[in-house]
Amino acid sequence: MAGKRSGRGWQRGLSTSERGLGNDHQKARRRLLAELKDGDPCARCLARGVYHAMVTGWPQLLEVDDFPPRVVARALGIEPEKRLSWRSCNRRAGGILGNQIKALRQGREPKPSPYTRW
Ligand SMILES: [Zn+2]
Repeated sequence: MAGKRSGRGWQRGLSTSERGLGNDHQKARRRLLAELKDGDPCARCLARGVYHAMVTGWPQLLEVDDFPPRVVARALGIEPEKRLSWRSCNRRAGGILGNQIKALRQGREPKPSPYTRW
């Protein structure tokens, strides 16, 4: 038995999964921003069928997120893909998804509206 037991290595030994999104997320973000071209569609808006151009000029306003959202991907048994979208679109979509999940958890099925005409 090895008697060496380092009590100080905890920080180094911490895996990326233990750190949660941290490292992976940052890496994905850096990669996606490097690949981004002006006019690439905002993933959040694309998911609802709207073309919303992104630009390379404001990386601080862009966020990386999982597509489909992690909860949905897990339910489908697939790996979500990381994509970029505008932070404001992300926040808005997150709220909508949150409400939908809340409704599902409470056993309320999202009822199809009788007024489907636009
Ligand atoms: Zn958007």
